[in-house]
Amino acid sequence: MNDCIFCLISKGEVNSKKLFSNDFCFVIEDIAPKAPLHLLIIPHKHILRLSDFEDVAIILGSMFDAAVNYAKNIGIADDGYRLVINQGENSGQEVPHLHLHLLSGRKLLGMG
Ligand code: AMP
Ligand code: ZN
Repeated sequence: MNDCIFCLISKGEVNSKKLFSNDFCFVIEDIAPKAPLHLLIIPHKHILRLSDFEDVAIILGSMFDAAVNYAKNIGIADDGYRLVINQGENSGQEVPHLHLHLLSGRKLLGMG
């Protein structure tokens, strides 16, 4: 998708510091952080709906693997963090390109 902000960042056509990148996904800081540490783990591929894919476990596994390893590498595994995916209109998803939020740096309120 040409005008998708995360596709543009993936291709380097919009500037954003990639903190980590592998063949499947990359990690950036959220532009409007909801916690002291708010990262986004984003597949390079434009994935709109997980339900369009049969290999959901592979897609999510790769994203969670990147998130867990990155969290471990930056030393927040012991303090803890939250991983969240918004999917579709009812979830409040703003950017229609699959991404995993990683929130940390303070005690997060319960899911309400
Ligand atoms: P969601 O509501 O799950 O779709 O979350 C989209 C997130 O992307 C929001 O937390 C935005 O602050 C964030 N965001 C939107 N544009 C950018 C950008 N250019 N760079 C980094 N984060 C962004
Ligand atoms: Zn996209």
